[in-house]
Amino acid sequence: MPYRNEIDLNKYRGGLLAILHPIASDPGYDERRINKLVQKYGRSQGGRFFSRDELIRAYRQFAGKDLPPFDATVIERLRMKPVRSASGVTPVTVLTKPFPCPGECVFCPNDVRMPKSYLSDEPGAQRAEQNAFDPYLQTYSRLRAYFNTGHPTDKIEVIVLGGTWSFYPEAYQIWFVKRIFDALEDFGAGVDRTGEIWAALESASQLHPANNTPQVTIHGAELQHTYNQVVQSIYADEMRRSRELGERLQEQERSLIDEYATWEELEAAHARNEDAPCRCVGLVVETRPDHLSEAEVIRIRRLGCTKVQIGFQSLSDAVLRVNKRGHEVAATRRAVKLLRRAGFQIHAHRMPNLLGAAPEGDLEDYRRLFGDPDFRPDELKIYPCSLIESAELMKFYQRGEWQPYTHEQLLELLTGAFRLTPEYCRLTRVIRDIPGTDIVTGNKTTNFRQLVENALAARGEHSADIRAREVRFRAVDAGTLQLDELWYETSVGREVFLQFIADDREIAGFLRLALPDENAPSFIEELQGAAIIRELHVYGQSLEIGESAPGKAQHSGLGLRLIERAVEIAAAQGYGNLAVISAVGTRGYYRKREFVDGVLYQHRALS
Ligand code: SF4
Repeated sequence: MPYRNEIDLNKYRGGLLAILHPIASDPGYDERRINKLVQKYGRSQGGRFFSRDELIRAYRQFAGKDLPPFDATVIERLRMKPVRSASGVTPVTVLTKPFPCPGECVFCPNDVRMPKSYLSDEPGAQRAEQNAFDPYLQTYSRLRAYFNTGHPTDKIEVIVLGGTWSFYPEAYQIWFVKRIFDALEDFGAGVDRTGEIWAALESASQLHPANNTPQVTIHGAELQHTYNQVVQSIYADEMRRSRELGERLQEQERSLIDEYATWEELEAAHARNEDAPCRCVGLVVETRPDHLSEAEVIRIRRLGCTKVQIGFQSLSDAVLRVNKRGHEVAATRRAVKLLRRAGFQIHAHRMPNLLGAAPEGDLEDYRRLFGDPDFRPDELKIYPCSLIESAELMKFYQRGEWQPYTHEQLLELLTGAFRLTPEYCRLTRVIRDIPGTDIVTGNKTTNFRQLVENALAARGEHSADIRAREVRFRAVDAGTLQLDELWYETSVGREVFLQFIADDREIAGFLRLALPDENAPSFIEELQGAAIIRELHVYGQSLEIGESAPGKAQHSGLGLRLIERAVEIAAAQGYGNLAVISAVGTRGYYRKREFVDGVLYQHRALS
């Protein structure tokens, strides 16, 4: 049955088959020839051009009946924007609902339709709003969009964004993650409960798009009410409802939109996902450094998380203070240490051009980011500060106390930052993709990464970061790869970054191995005395289970070789146990490699 807004394929069968027949029969069809066919038969359909997702859907439906038998390479030919799943895993980003944030950061947007720091016209935020911020609807619709555009949906990294995760009530957190897992389960099984949820939301929730129409706009220059005050008053009914439900529903039957679930229910959803067709191979949340404690880190792990996005923003106490960040650098050091000791992947956010910052200081800050063992994040987003009308920074701008860096200053700073980034770090984002219409003043160039890479190339240099070196669609001959080891100090011990690289240092796979010091005891009993695999990643286009693509990195046994080398190193360093912070959907993979289940981790005994 067609999903909402989908065309009925049978109605257009003739035109679709005319396009798909030659593509399915001839591997020589490239982008240009496919487009020509689409235009040719679009005209014969009364000017209606078929989209790629319609062609892929039709191919899946008609293959083996009106077309030759199903062949995954035809989907690859039809697929657009393959870059999203090029790292081997398909990312699904979901946003939490609008909710107070403990921060008062002057640079942060105050869009009351959104969770703190997001803007309602950012594409990802729009998707969340259109789905009433419901975790099931967001996950399900994103999976469907990926499936329809030919992306694999068997290995999913779920990224939960919005405000400060650790500030949302625990019942909401458990429910939110459980509903994501429910959507993965249903999507993989071909079950669709989105209609039931929409029906429930329509009558009961203010977050339904038709009901969520707050008229209040915050102007940062004349901040009468804070985001938290406005959000609490606008969504008072919604918040009261979920609070009361939380208290009342513990013993009762719940509806699909009641924001309450128990740990036991979540753990059962986890267990069902372990060998499901649509598996969660990574779960990410974002939070503030001062909201991470030992208990919180354990709780995040219990939810199934493997990575935490954490706002460093600045490594200067003075800059943090004038920006009303609400914590000092010491909190960031503490948070990184806790996360690292628990084996999490650490994805930092860093903002140059904050109030009180200057380009030289920002570059110095960046040097400290990798020079000081207390930081050294695994991934990094660099978001130069842009002025948004709803942010309090407007006041400072109007008083002449803040100015955006010029294009040249920014280019020089970012080029310097790239040059200082070590091989073990991945620069995931360089500029936050804020719509130009939201930026009062500041950088509106979104292809800054390209500009920096050009600037480096002009000097005969190139970025060493992981993203710049990833093998994407290129077939790799595993036999020609070298296993390279990069050892460095961290706040809890030593770290080994194991990477399979080609001659030009292109990277086909890597493993992060933490070797904690004896004098950095773990607050998690099962990690006491253990070396920890914090991440294992092998590149190559994500393939669906059962598909194969000769030569592509994911299927060359690189993962196993990386694990075996980690075992050797850990044993040689005297550890009796190698733990891994596995995602729910990778537990089966590690069990096959001699790891046994612990409480929050899996373990392999070392001889
Ligand atoms: S903690 Fe993050 S979301 Fe909250 S106000 Fe500060 S920047 Fe915004």
